[in-house]
Amino acid sequence: MEILTGIAVCPGVAIAEAVVLNTEDYRIPRRSISAGEVEAQVRILEDTFGKSIEELRTQMEQVANRLGHDAGDVFTWHVGVLQDPQIRRAIENLIRERKYSAAYAVSTIMRNYQRRFMQMSDPLLAERIRDVQDIERRLLRNVLGESREDLEHLSQPSILVAHDVSPSLAASLGQANILGVALDVGGSTSHTAILLRALGHPAVIGAKDVSTRVSGGDLVVVDGSGQMIIAHPDQETLEHYRARQRTYSRIERELVQLRDLEAATQDGTRIELLGNIEFPVEAAACVEKGADGIGLYRTEFLYLRAEGPPDEEEQYGAYRTAIEGSQGRPIVIRTFDLGADKYTQERQYEQERNPMLGLRSIRYSLQHLDMFKVQLRAVLRASVLGEVKLMFPLITSLMEFRQAKMTLHDAMEDLEEEQLSFNPSMEVGMMLETPAAALQCREFTREVAFISIGTNDLVQYLLAVDRGNERVARFYNMTHPAVLRTLRDVIRTCAKAEVPCSLCGEMAGQPLYTLLLLGLGLRTFSMAPASIPEVKKLIRLTTLAHAERVTRKSLTFETERQVSNYLRDVTRKLLPDDPI
Ligand code: PEP
Ligand code: MG
Repeated sequence: MEILTGIAVCPGVAIAEAVVLNTEDYRIPRRSISAGEVEAQVRILEDTFGKSIEELRTQMEQVANRLGHDAGDVFTWHVGVLQDPQIRRAIENLIRERKYSAAYAVSTIMRNYQRRFMQMSDPLLAERIRDVQDIERRLLRNVLGESREDLEHLSQPSILVAHDVSPSLAASLGQANILGVALDVGGSTSHTAILLRALGHPAVIGAKDVSTRVSGGDLVVVDGSGQMIIAHPDQETLEHYRARQRTYSRIERELVQLRDLEAATQDGTRIELLGNIEFPVEAAACVEKGADGIGLYRTEFLYLRAEGPPDEEEQYGAYRTAIEGSQGRPIVIRTFDLGADKYTQERQYEQERNPMLGLRSIRYSLQHLDMFKVQLRAVLRASVLGEVKLMFPLITSLMEFRQAKMTLHDAMEDLEEEQLSFNPSMEVGMMLETPAAALQCREFTREVAFISIGTNDLVQYLLAVDRGNERVARFYNMTHPAVLRTLRDVIRTCAKAEVPCSLCGEMAGQPLYTLLLLGLGLRTFSMAPASIPEVKKLIRLTTLAHAERVTRKSLTFETERQVSNYLRDVTRKLLPDDPI
């Protein structure tokens, strides 16, 4: 039995055999072969090495012809690795002695090799990891050939294990036979985590080297509440987790019955529960979970799934689908929040050194006005189809908000000239996600129709902790006293100015923070649709007076650990069986 720890993304327990993906999202097949297959697999290995070396030589020649010999030399190291008899022998030994398939043996040795480079402190040598990954990819492509298996055709329910998953792959997992997910990288509010949460399956990420420790076909338990991945569980552990699964299924059945009940505290305070969506079709799923509307539509996923920027018609179609899916309920469309970990990096020739502090979000849109205007036109045209509100992300200064609004007015003028209809009084709000915006909240309330607090970013900027980096995940803490005080001040300022205030970071969907946020005065929560029933259950179990007591006490602590422990205790008293 091997226990790995990581960061919980989605609660619950999943038990199944693992399906392991390599860095190109290829599935690495099961590891064992029979004794009779050994010679054939060794031959496949020989062919694979031969073909890979040949490919590299051709590429070297082509590059050298075009760019000169120095440029072609980048492949010399790759050829050297493939010609290294030790590496080839190590792979062959695994096939002969351990009866590994050629693909699995290649992957095992190349990953060991990668781990060796990861441990090197010399940055030049550490850079070699990418080369090793590249070699692994090439070998696997040649070893698997046409037999590459695709996730959508998994014949049995599985646990997906990978280094990372791209947004498009995460988005397609809903159609695959996947019960749970375990990844090497990521933080609790990274965008991969957000997509996995939307999927609703138990998931643990940031588990460092799970993808090199687990093999296709291994029995795996993903404990999304205990932040653990257990490979090869023994009988006792398996029984323990099967019992937990039965408890969670019972809780889930109870939660379904809450769908049409009001989200109101026992003393009658009505709370608005909204859904966060990444794809337009999810709007209907939010309504299905009992959402009062859509509090955050992350439109950038339209961009990230496509090869290039989506045109006006494509965007209009997506917004129309989301508006229709929300069935008359309000919907907040957020303009593209590109940059940082949302992959414009890959498309940029020169990568940013510090992308979280770089050209991201509204800054990116304001520097790409043509693209921004296309989006604003599409939203404006869709604004007549329902109760549509517009929101700008990462607003840090008043100037930025004003500039974004000016661009919106330009788009309105263009539409007027073209005699296309739109709602001229569509509400325009902002996301409050930086300490600067929090400190200037009062000024903002004079200019915006509403504020939505984006704690995922606000916490990273307040605490100076990259939200997507598993190495600093333990410092990313929503219960830090500085976070609590900032939230208190922002919510209070908005209430005083009578500007609607919601919170749409992942914090809103975690029952651990529900009492605290209620007590801070928050009345609108926006979250992954899968979290709505549980948060509603907790709201219905408490009184506002109790939540306010919890908040007062939370604000007296000096450290984040004291706050977390206290919140866990008071929440468990109300939800003794639920995974918190
Ligand atoms: C946030 O930062 O809290 C937020 C909701 O936006 P995103 O997670 O898309 O950055
Ligand atoms: Mg954000």
